[in-house]
Amino acid sequence: MRRRSGGRCEVRIGSARCKQRAEHIHHRFGGNGRRDIGPSMLAQNKLHLCAREHEDERLKRLRPVSWDEADWAATVVWERVT
Ligand SMILES: [Zn+2]
Repeated sequence: MRRRSGGRCEVRIGSARCKQRAEHIHHRFGGNGRRDIGPSMLAQNKLHLCAREHEDERLKRLRPVSWDEADWAATVVWERVT
């Protein structure tokens, strides 16, 4: 996954790719103490995020527009919740 992102935040809002350095790993299936087993281990279920957007996601200020199972993380488009 680190190779895929190139160390850059993978958030895309509209057509704009975030240009921040990726510092956090967001797990699609978070919580429950299960993030190291099962589906969350797959690279496609992780997303490299910059610190700011990871915080925004955690606070529900940023959410994915689509949750396409086929090719999730690299193509997911996010939107700001206002
Ligand atoms: Zn970002």
